[in-house]
Amino acid sequence: MSEPTLPPELVEALQGVRSVGAITGAGISAESGIPTYRGVGGIYDDPEEGHSTVEALSGPTLLRDPDRTWRAVAALARHTIDATPNAAHHALARMEQALERFVLLTQNVDGLHRIAGSRNVIDIHGDVLATRCTSCETRTRLTRVELAALDATPPCPDCNAHLRPDAVLFEELLDPRKVLRMQEAFYREPPDLVLVVGTSAMFPYIAEPVHVAARCGRLTIEVNPEPTPLTNVVGTSLRGPAGVYVPLLAAALGADGD
Ligand code: NAD
Ligand code: ZN
Repeated sequence: MSEPTLPPELVEALQGVRSVGAITGAGISAESGIPTYRGVGGIYDDPEEGHSTVEALSGPTLLRDPDRTWRAVAALARHTIDATPNAAHHALARMEQALERFVLLTQNVDGLHRIAGSRNVIDIHGDVLATRCTSCETRTRLTRVELAALDATPPCPDCNAHLRPDAVLFEELLDPRKVLRMQEAFYREPPDLVLVVGTSAMFPYIAEPVHVAARCGRLTIEVNPEPTPLTNVVGTSLRGPAGVYVPLLAAALGADGD
């Protein structure tokens, strides 16, 4: 089989791109060994397990039975304990270096974009290693090893109340400051290219910036091995793994690997 390449007309269109807004989901970390929720190999492959995990990772469960939520977070952390950024994370970090304007909106809570060197990151669902106290102002960070080992709610080091993950759980509201940053980055002056990678785009606030960019005549590209609700919205759908296509896109934008 021949090496995947980008369509020549796409490469040509990418020459004029000065600003990129990238939007990523769990699929970009799949090649780092972190299971997605939906899609092949995702935890929803077993719907009962998927449903039970989502319930455990919800705001109402955190209030009722915080130990259950923390155990579910710890179980997910055990999947990610050795995960490192893959070629797609690195390629997005290079794009940021090469372009005048770059913003990355991610739904992932695994921290791999920052480890890869991305700086202008809106982690709209937070970071799973960050915690905050449910009673005082204390914020702390856990190591991946500490998080993976938890089997009950960790106490606040200052007041001993319950800590909670500083991440947005299911049925919880987004951080309004991050929503504002996202709106500024994607709506005020949409980037020349909006690139969506590895997300099933189930959340309206993830799909909407892509609709807006398409309506404004910007370039829109999706990278995903499977079709999604955005497939018919974007100008180009690259049907394959992020680790293959995102480095090709970075190279076409003048952000070559070493
Ligand atoms: P999702 O699990 O709903 O969808 C994953 C998408 O990635 C699917 O469309 C799938 O086809 C695609 N995909 C699978 N392998 C891929 C690859 N190699 N390259 C490119 N795409 C690939 O994930 P989502 O849309 O991010 O939304 C679900 C929620 O799950 C989010 O809230 C997110 O916070 C959370 N989540 C995060 C992580 C993480 O931090 N790594 C992991 C699982 C779930
Ligand atoms: Zn406290």
